Amino acid sequence: MNRLGHQAAAQATWLGYCTFDRFYDNGETLMMSWQHVLAGAIVASSMCADDWSPDADQGGVMAKIIPGGHRGPTHMPELVAGVLFLLTMVAGDDLDWFVLAAAAAWGSHLFVDFFWGGIPFALATLAGNRKRIGFKLDTGGPTEEMVTWGLTMAAFPLAYLALGGPVPVSLSFSYA
Ligand SMILES: [Zn+2]
Repeated sequence: MNRLGHQAAAQATWLGYCTFDRFYDNGETLMMSWQHVLAGAIVASSMCADDWSPDADQGGVMAKIIPGGHRGPTHMPELVAGVLFLLTMVAGDDLDWFVLAAAAAWGSHLFVDFFWGGIPFALATLAGNRKRIGFKLDTGGPTEEMVTWGLTMAAFPLAYLALGGPVPVSLSFSYA
């Protein structure tokens, strides 16, 4: 998928999460502020494609360092989850939003790549197994265009809700 598609996916994922956060009552008084929503959107957008995303293996300095070529280790869900976990360890509570935004960017990147070409699961990749799991939709094809359009459209109402826009009914919920 092209950058625009990854961007639309990351944006919808992040704003979807923030909307969930707004209406899900987990008993905490502190919810994500609009500043967090906004800053997270910028982080998710910056980290969804190119050098700060799993596609760092595609060009530039990082591509020379990372073994296995494009869609190698940086596209393994296990490793990406591991890196995110390490980020939560070093980031501290004040930066939860940053780690969540990074998770939205990288998670949605792998999810989309799963459909547009497949991703390598399991550590076997490091041992040279180049098998990928997923589907082979056309990059730049009509499905990509449709999905990108749909996700971009979804981002508008999600942004409204995530930023605290008034709603006619009470939507607050919790899993008690
Ligand atoms: Zn990728």
